[in-house]
Amino acid sequence: MIRVRQIKLDIKKDSFDNLQKKILTKLKIKINDLIEMKIIKKSIDARDKNNVFYVYEVNVKLTDEKKALEKNKSNDVIEIEEENYKEIKKGKILLKNRPVVIGAGPCGLFCALILAENGYKPIIFERGERVEDRINSVENFWKNGILNSESNVCFGEGGAGTFSDGKLNTLVSDKEGRIKKVYNTFIKCGAPSEISISNKPHIGSNVLRDVIKNIRNRIINLGGTIYYHSCLTSINIEDNKIESIIINKRKKIPCDTLVLAIGHSARDTIKMLYDKGIIMESKAFAVGLRVQHKQELINNSQYGKFSKLLPPASYKLTYQSSNKRGVYTFCMCPGGYVVDSSCEKGHLIINGMSNHERDSENANSAIVVTVDKKDFGENPLDGIEYQRKLEAYAYRKGNGKIPVQLYSDYINNKTSDHFGSIKPVFKGNYTFANLNEILPYYINESIKEGMKDFDKKINGFANPDTILAGVETRTSSAVRIIRDKDFLTNIKGIYPSGEGAGYSGGITTSAIDGIKTAEKIIERYTNRNL
Ligand SMILES: Cc1cc2nc3c(=O)[nH]c(=O)nc-3n(C[C@H](O)[C@H](O)[C@H](O)COP(=O)(O)OP(=O)(O)OC[C@H]3O[C@@H](n4cnc5c(N)ncnc54)[C@H](O)[C@@H]3O)c2cc1C
Repeated sequence: MIRVRQIKLDIKKDSFDNLQKKILTKLKIKINDLIEMKIIKKSIDARDKNNVFYVYEVNVKLTDEKKALEKNKSNDVIEIEEENYKEIKKGKILLKNRPVVIGAGPCGLFCALILAENGYKPIIFERGERVEDRINSVENFWKNGILNSESNVCFGEGGAGTFSDGKLNTLVSDKEGRIKKVYNTFIKCGAPSEISISNKPHIGSNVLRDVIKNIRNRIINLGGTIYYHSCLTSINIEDNKIESIIINKRKKIPCDTLVLAIGHSARDTIKMLYDKGIIMESKAFAVGLRVQHKQELINNSQYGKFSKLLPPASYKLTYQSSNKRGVYTFCMCPGGYVVDSSCEKGHLIINGMSNHERDSENANSAIVVTVDKKDFGENPLDGIEYQRKLEAYAYRKGNGKIPVQLYSDYINNKTSDHFGSIKPVFKGNYTFANLNEILPYYINESIKEGMKDFDKKINGFANPDTILAGVETRTSSAVRIIRDKDFLTNIKGIYPSGEGAGYSGGITTSAIDGIKTAEKIIERYTNRNL
């Protein structure tokens, strides 16, 4: 197979036929020489605002590939091997019990799916509701402020990314074809097929919910079982091995293989595991605020005169502050909503979400600043306590509502009393408050410096009526559960996986870590007994 890169197409002439013509010209071949072509990546090159175009990467099968390669010696035409997801070689150790997966986020679902596809009949325990019911709990929270602390934006089937933009991009390399496996599964379960070719693939919260339902049904059809309202509350260890688990403080389940795909908001579970002697360490993360602009401002800045012809634009900005901290934008949601994603009573956090159409009037993104042990202490759980403190301040300052401030008032340390030209777009109740009083001084100063720098890159980024809201604390896990090369903790039979265990960040990498964990279990054990 041959990969052809850097195929440039005028955005006004973007069609399959034109792309095919370009490939024939580039490879100096005739239509009859082309057996198959598959778009691998499509991106927008908008570096020159007067000349914005699409750039394609395409895999082609030809009648005579050797000849085509001889004729084209450029780096844009290369021979490749197709990356397909491999078959997993089964191990020999007999499992006494069906493998247990805790959590039905992307990590838990993909781990369970791979186990199920290989005949290992996993059992998933999920503390929250089925995705269909979870939607009602979340809507009720956003409308009436009544929090279901077990089923919310962070907890419940689908995991933390269910009410998100559903961005799927990742920078990890993928020789094993796991990313392809994730995207293909999403597509089979209802995601738009464009996710497999876009360089910034995204599903959107409205579509993602159905995709999750379909993944669940696949797992069940393949012999898996899912229990909802079922929280892992304790574990029993014998001879340094997992022996059984306790669900909802009552039900004992025998268990010899336990996957912890609990996400980074399950602080009670992480504390329980720590108290049981599972070795973990704290890790650096980032905290900050979320910023809202009109999407139009971002489109104009990124695409210039072509902005009306292209989908809503995104951005990624970084800055090194004078106090030597990294300041960066995170989880940018074009045409999105800023959502109250709280999951603990008396604590408030926000995040961003978009529907597939990305059709809200505003763009939003977190602006976060890195923090580490020097800021929160040496104990493995100190980072979590640092996050909790900020979340409690945010809750108090906003009286339980999202605290909001205009950028000009944030700079002048003054609570706002009206919005400017940007109409706020929130899911959840909000109120004006002084965000300077929520975050530590060094974070506020870093954000203010960062905003000024970002304004040089996107003109209008730091306009006085730019809307800020707080707080963003869950950019990544504050702990890492230590695992060895077989993905096991110091207690045998326990597999920490995904974002909560500190091994991924985002939907795709969490799904990949779930797949890798399933592979480790399959390679070690046989399913003959199950
Ligand atoms: C609002 C929002 C928007 C986001 N947007 C994006 C985005 O656009 N793109 C992106 O890549 N990432 C996004 N993320 C991050 C992404 O959602 C996470 O990285 C990803 O979901 C982590 O996957 P996970 O399976 O490891 O953990 P989670 O998704 O957190 O799943 C963990 C699951 O375990 C369950 N659980 C926890 N403890 C227990 C227990 N004791 N017993 C039983 N069940 C338990 C939880 O209920 C949850 O369902 C967003 C996150 C949020 C909150």
